[in-house]
Amino acid sequence: MSYQAQIFTIIIFGLALGSFGNVLLYRIPKGESIKGRSKCCICNKILGCLELIPVFSFLFQGGKCKKCKTKISCRYPAIEILTAIIFVATFITNQTLEIVPLIFLILSIYMLLMIALYDAATQKIPDVFTAALFIFALIFQITKIGIPNLNLAKDILYGMLVPIIFFGGMWTFSRGRWIGSGDIFLGGAIGALLGFQGTLISLFFAYTIGAVVALALIISGKAKRGAVIAFGPFLCVGAMIVIFIGSKL
Ligand SMILES: [Zn+2]
Repeated sequence: MSYQAQIFTIIIFGLALGSFGNVLLYRIPKGESIKGRSKCCICNKILGCLELIPVFSFLFQGGKCKKCKTKISCRYPAIEILTAIIFVATFITNQTLEIVPLIFLILSIYMLLMIALYDAATQKIPDVFTAALFIFALIFQITKIGIPNLNLAKDILYGMLVPIIFFGGMWTFSRGRWIGSGDIFLGGAIGALLGFQGTLISLFFAYTIGAVVALALIISGKAKRGAVIAFGPFLCVGAMIVIFIGSKL
């Protein structure tokens, strides 16, 4: 497959998983099943095949429901496009990877994106997302080197222990006020994905970006001092940055 064809495939894959991500992000907080056809949330019209094409359906329908003409939030195509961009960025910055570890790295970054969006909207992180990230991360690590060895096991273990001990300590000390228990599990899964060194660097980025954003929110008056800002999205963004620059470190 030519390079262009590979990029094209990844864009399609990204749009499709982004579209599925919309289903997860919309239905899980409401406790709805992720099975079953999507429908308009106003008039309940079941969406046909032509209304389910990522981004294009939105454009062709002028951002409106076909039946009741209610405006569809541009959040949906935005998440689809964002997923595709992140997938392409992962592919371009990880050219040395074989196909199988590449797929699991992309699935891992997909879970990071889902967790970031979910946590930003609800201040919660579903355990099933973190568990999926952890499993994809382990498969990525193992398939990357071919045969598992003791060094890899140590790297994953130390990578996991850093955030678990650090966040666990903060959580215990503050009785869950500074950090949520979901962040501890998320940190552990990121540790498995990035290993010891990568995890430290991702935490550095998470805290730096988190501090800048918190400051910007306070200065602009959008958040008060002492307001709770979800930390999970920053952990996820920090991990994504390490994935994009990882091979260059
Ligand atoms: Zn409708």
